[in-house]
Amino acid sequence: MTTPLAGFVTIPGVPTFRLRNATVPAPLLTALPPGARVSPDGLVVADLTVRDGRIEDVAAAGGAAVDGPGSPVDVDLQHGQVWPCMIDAHTHLDKGHTWERAPNPDGTFGGAIRTVMDDRAAHWSAEDVRRRMDFGLRCSFAHGTRAIRTHLDSAGPQAAISWPVFEVLRKEWAGRIELQAVSLVPLQVFGGPEGEALAARIAAANGVVGAVGYVSPEIDTLLDRMLALASAYGLDVDLHCDESGDVGARALAHLARAVRRRRVVCGHCCSLAVQAPEVVAETLDLVVEAGISVISLPMCNLYLQDRVPGRTPRWRGVTLLHELAARRVRVAVASDNCRDAFHGYGDHDMLEVFREAARIAHLDRPFGDWPRAVTATPAELMGLAGAGRIGPGLRADLVLFEGRAWSELLSRPQGNRVVLRNGRAIERRLPDYRELDDLVSPRAVEGVRHGA
Ligand SMILES: [Zn+2]
Repeated sequence: MTTPLAGFVTIPGVPTFRLRNATVPAPLLTALPPGARVSPDGLVVADLTVRDGRIEDVAAAGGAAVDGPGSPVDVDLQHGQVWPCMIDAHTHLDKGHTWERAPNPDGTFGGAIRTVMDDRAAHWSAEDVRRRMDFGLRCSFAHGTRAIRTHLDSAGPQAAISWPVFEVLRKEWAGRIELQAVSLVPLQVFGGPEGEALAARIAAANGVVGAVGYVSPEIDTLLDRMLALASAYGLDVDLHCDESGDVGARALAHLARAVRRRRVVCGHCCSLAVQAPEVVAETLDLVVEAGISVISLPMCNLYLQDRVPGRTPRWRGVTLLHELAARRVRVAVASDNCRDAFHGYGDHDMLEVFREAARIAHLDRPFGDWPRAVTATPAELMGLAGAGRIGPGLRADLVLFEGRAWSELLSRPQGNRVVLRNGRAIERRLPDYRELDDLVSPRAVEGVRHGA
């Protein structure tokens, strides 16, 4: 019971066509077409020719070949924005859409941890995880995402349940959404035999090694152990780091000291924003030296950080995006949790992520290179060649929006976008929440508890 979403333009079902008067954020182009002018807001108006699923040519608007016999069909976008399909580099598909049966009692981080732990123990069978993950993937696809890195709760018996489900889904979704998985366990797991078995399991699935890094007396030993395991299997590393407002949370600095050459990504790093300037400067130097990239999760951070029931929050929860970017640290933003105890909202929509990130972290005035934070940069962090950019020879995986200038693009939800995959408009269907009622509605769950 899904309803197809309307688009604002019709894309002809032919192999060759031209998208005229497309407004493209300049940092998303592989090269500025000759004669194109970049507006003070960093936007370029261009004509894109699509042939056989790829972008054949990007020309300044009005500069494409003159119409004549055999010239491609024109679609006039009337200055609507065109983006490459987006890349969601940090999400939790395995937790998603559990809100109804496992809401966060007080909205706090502690409440989220406890709620998900109980929900996982009670409900996370292979079928439960598979159906909720598939639901999230269908949302992502309809909104125009082409690649996702999801963290998977992997402690204890859950690894043997969730990783095979992930591998089946990755196969099913191949060609539509490129999927990567990262283990999510307490860092201590890598101190013992469970960590060795987990690293082997991750390697078998061609995954990424990850954990929750927080400061403890053994943190340096544990980080060394985890990186050694990652090295032994040739795996990348992606950590949850310092997701708190605790000024003593400095796992990022410890990690930077432990890293030498691997491609390491660190998510959250919230506490950096509340630490003293000299502490921040030391950590940033270490991060630059170690070549660590950072993924900020603004929507989840805004929801969880600085939440004390009954008290108004005083900070926005996000890390130092501008200061990191100023030091040339690669910074991406991503969705994180979706409708679970860590974040009660969300729809796996990377435009929503960008819109909210722009507001929460002041990524506007100017927008500068920030459109890359949901496109080209996460593609680099995930090792996806050619993704997240617009340019000749690249796949015509594009999202066409009605909104022209930034304010138009980011003011309305832009539900009526058109998503092109390999040059063809996809049918955009968002799954109906009712599909999951038997898994997550409190009444269904009550029925399970009472053996009904
Ligand atoms: Zn996360």
